Amino acid sequence: MGDDDAAAAAPAQRRTAPPVVITDPRTGRQVEMTKTAAKKLLKRAAREEKKEATKHERRAKERQRRKERRAQLREQRARDPEAHAPAPRPRAVPFRARVVVDLGFDDLMTADEATSLAAQLGYLYGVNRTSARPFEQLVFSGAGTTSSASLGFTPPHSGAHAFPPAGTAESSLFADRVGQHMEHKNRGSWRRWSRVHLAEFGGLEALLRPQADAPPPGPMVYLTADTDRTIDVLEEGTTYIIGGIVDRNRYKHLCAKKAEALGIPTARLPIDLEHVGQHMNARKVLTVNQVFAILVGWTETRDWKAALQRGLPSRKLHTATAEGDASADASADASADASADASPAGSPAGSSPDGGLSAPSPV
Ligand code: SAH
Repeated sequence: MGDDDAAAAAPAQRRTAPPVVITDPRTGRQVEMTKTAAKKLLKRAAREEKKEATKHERRAKERQRRKERRAQLREQRARDPEAHAPAPRPRAVPFRARVVVDLGFDDLMTADEATSLAAQLGYLYGVNRTSARPFEQLVFSGAGTTSSASLGFTPPHSGAHAFPPAGTAESSLFADRVGQHMEHKNRGSWRRWSRVHLAEFGGLEALLRPQADAPPPGPMVYLTADTDRTIDVLEEGTTYIIGGIVDRNRYKHLCAKKAEALGIPTARLPIDLEHVGQHMNARKVLTVNQVFAILVGWTETRDWKAALQRGLPSRKLHTATAEGDASADASADASADASADASPAGSPAGSSPDGGLSAPSPV
């Protein structure tokens, strides 16, 4: 056989290599494939199995490495405190107002929306913690006696989920889905968050009642896009309430109705030409973390323009139009935001390493 013949015969042989039948270790099913593909599949499965088996060991090693690194840093710092001291963070001066996130809408969210909201709570805490003018206290309150049904709203999928009944001993903040997410995240670290109070029972309604062991609740304002009143300044001593819900604008006027039912005044953020620098729908519905970022932006700068520019994602600014239709662009924004919620895209100054802060102006 000449060289040419051999070259012609070789590819033909490869094409006819008989398939093999193996058990796919991931699915347990019998699959037919080429010998090479089968080899690859089995190798990959063996690799994954080994990785899984050594997971704990690897993590322990990683912990040990971090421990050693910390000890090393401590030692270096002890030897030469000047050179290795961490850059001092400016002392935070709390803004003496409270922000309550009203988590009393768990039943109105889909599972994904509840997950998104839980992610936003972590972001919110991070923004407050790193701010030079943090809110003195963040309060997370859960289900109270005002049911969604009494406000005229029905849960998605006609309430196919099972929820702890509202307004009973079981309706603990920790029992519903957002609460459960938070309990499982970092071993329930939210219980140890500074400047955060978890109001376990009674919902927002309980916060309205004077408590024997606490100072009187003071004035409250429920923030909502669905009102004619606009916030002028934030005031110390006041409690600002944000509706803790991701609803992709499904439940219009939900929080305004709840506020009305509870006799709490409402106000919206000053989203207007003067502060945004371009036409934008004044009743723009923002996400919980955007609203909070704007509030902290204000405590830091005392300037709505600066606060809104930091808190509003640039996407919103660019898509805003003179006659921007409320419902259409709000719902499009809301769904896009849901995926971006956990990222500090709309983050205010407080979350950047140097805070990006201009010094808080004197009051
Ligand atoms: N359908 C819900 C929308 C939730 S958006 C509702 O009825 O409010 C999450 C929360 O952010 C709102 O409940 C409100 O507290 C706050 N919020 C959103 N946009 C706002 C705006 N333009 N002004 C003031 N608060 C706003």
